[in-house]
Amino acid sequence: YPCKVEDLIDEGEIGRGRFGSVHRMKHSPSGVEMAVKRMIVTVDDRERKTLQMDVTVIMKAECPYIVKFYGALFREGEVWICMERMDTSLDKFYRFVYQTISTKIPEEVLGKMVVSIVQALSYLKRELNIIHRDVKPSNILINSAGCIKMCDFGISGELVNSIAATREVGCKPYMAPERIDPAPGRDGFDVRSDVWSLGISVIELATGKFPFPPWNSVFDQLTSVVEGRPPSLPESGNFTDNFRDFVVKCLIKDVDARPKYRELLTHPFIVESESRQVDVEGWVSNVLSQAVAKNFKL
Ligand code: ADP
Ligand code: MG
Repeated sequence: YPCKVEDLIDEGEIGRGRFGSVHRMKHSPSGVEMAVKRMIVTVDDRERKTLQMDVTVIMKAECPYIVKFYGALFREGEVWICMERMDTSLDKFYRFVYQTISTKIPEEVLGKMVVSIVQALSYLKRELNIIHRDVKPSNILINSAGCIKMCDFGISGELVNSIAATREVGCKPYMAPERIDPAPGRDGFDVRSDVWSLGISVIELATGKFPFPPWNSVFDQLTSVVEGRPPSLPESGNFTDNFRDFVVKCLIKDVDARPKYRELLTHPFIVESESRQVDVEGWVSNVLSQAVAKNFKL
């Protein structure tokens, strides 16, 4: 398809992030339903070229665990990224599950989610040499077919960096300790910083709560990540030892001792979750239909 701005029919806002909004849109010539991320950024010609190149790379990706990209459009002061539309993201989904219908995401379903995420991150690194850099529940999308896919991975490192620089403080830090307080001479982004963010996200999805206590200040939050013990799955949650150990490995504070994807993919929690038959589609679609019935905006 893609894609001209004139061919897109705006069907309303889905959600809002720190630097723009995501809209549901229909590509009228093809009838394809999309999600379009509208970012308020001014890019010069060079940045635009880089961005176009990055998007072209991502458009070629063939991985069932990453959201399909249809292209990038440039408008005055805005960049539009057109992608596959999913039903919702895991942040809204888990809040509905734990808070509204007072249930939890079963460990078998979490296992399938974690497998999808690790496969997605590993594919991005291995095949496209992309490091995600923003792993968190709102960047993991699901649909009623039970698919779990990642979005919002480094479209142009530069753009992401300029966005990151303007990022509102006080957001939840999924950030690894080595990113908050880098060792001298190590300012590059290590894939394993995403592994840390994965560990934090997994605890959040398994318990329904962000695993750090509320902070008084940004300084407090950063200090507690860097100086405190890493969070872990609570004893009380009836989680399997393999699951608990997987999270412990993701949240090893020393980045050099933390596993990379190749090692994570051989962890018993992943291996067992991969081979298990789980009706993710049935479970997720049931929750999604309860959200519709309760008029809960996902
Ligand atoms: P954030 O990820 O920080 O919440 P974003 O601007 O990236 O902010 O996204 C805003 C919201 O839009 C997300 O929370 C998510 O629920 C929704 N969203 C993003 N991409 C899609 C998509 N492809 N399909 C459906 N919903 C999406
Ligand atoms: Mg996002």
